[in-house]
Amino acid sequence: MKTVLITGGAGFIGANFVHYWMQHYPQDKVVVIDALTYAGNLASLDPVKDQPNFTFVKGNICDTELVEKLLAEHKVDTLVHFAAESHVDRSITGPDEFIETNIIGTYSLLKAAKKVWLDQPAAAGKPPVKHRFHHVSTDEVYGTLSATDPAFTENTAYAPNSPHSASKAASDHLVRAYHHTYGLEVTTSNCSNNYGPYHFPEKLVPVVILNALAGKDIPVYGKGENIRDWLYVEDHADALLTVLAKGEVGRSYNIGGENEAKNIDLVRMICAHLDVMRPKDTPYAKQITFVTDRPGHDMRYAIDPTRIRTELGWRPSVTLEEGLEKTVRWYLDNEDWWRALQSRSGVGDRLGTG
Ligand code: NAD
Repeated sequence: MKTVLITGGAGFIGANFVHYWMQHYPQDKVVVIDALTYAGNLASLDPVKDQPNFTFVKGNICDTELVEKLLAEHKVDTLVHFAAESHVDRSITGPDEFIETNIIGTYSLLKAAKKVWLDQPAAAGKPPVKHRFHHVSTDEVYGTLSATDPAFTENTAYAPNSPHSASKAASDHLVRAYHHTYGLEVTTSNCSNNYGPYHFPEKLVPVVILNALAGKDIPVYGKGENIRDWLYVEDHADALLTVLAKGEVGRSYNIGGENEAKNIDLVRMICAHLDVMRPKDTPYAKQITFVTDRPGHDMRYAIDPTRIRTELGWRPSVTLEEGLEKTVRWYLDNEDWWRALQSRSGVGDRLGTG
């Protein structure tokens, strides 16, 4: 039986991970810390909020004392770190929060973990608390690829291009350093673009679904040629459980969906699913509109999953076709969830394409 502290558990991937963990390890205690920024949504945790082994704490990961208190009081042995500012476009217009949460916030968690798991037991003449610190990062730290470049491996040099990816890269380095310098037992994963239920309405997949349903233009950056490797969010959660169970301490793992697609092809696939599930007179693809590209838009990300496949025996189970069908179905069935978010101020005026 474990006690896991999940940071950013009210966000898109964090909430899916909470559900996945609680389904797979119903005996464990799950504590979520989330600051509930614009991207956090308590409603995403509704299915588990009344379970006796679940605790939600509204708090900021930069508050080191609060994190120390949670680690000690709940006897946490596993920390899975999702909390981040995650939207590339927002990092271009306002990098401050990205530096604060992604870099200082990660540093704060590492400091708290070192104190509670290593330093306090050492001062009391006891062995370290058995622990694991897992850091969730992104393939964007590796920069961009041309159409013919080989995919990112764990040995690809870091070359972040946006304030968002630079702040994530910095956090990866801090996590690595806390292992090498202090012996904190860490693992890191760098994953590709996720999609699925509970995805905030300003990211590409929900933007396409919701604009299509509303009869609005479906905006696509440039000519839609940018390529991403799409990972269904439950597959991501499954990969993380595998890394936690079998991953080697101090090692990082790339997680991909083995589903590379151009943005325009992804958008057309979503439109085709909507044509079947919510038919109307004209095909949804007629609403596609090309808009001015994002500055410094990375052309292609692709993951080479050899390490996680060969060392840990993990590979994704959901194809892009299946995952998009499930995702479109989820948005059709969960209108209350996304309508509540759309009515929040500031949402809906941005375009995210990952
Ligand atoms: P998200 O933006 O949906 O959620 C982030 C959550 O963190 C929100 O609930 C927010 O309230 C919380 N948060 C933000 N700042 C905080 C702070 N200072 N203290 C406490 N909580 C705070 O993000 P996501 O898409 O779920 O991404 C989660 C993680 O996965 C991030 O670290 C991101 O870099 C990584 N990742 C995401 C993707 C993707 O496609 N979404 C791909 C690769 C990696």
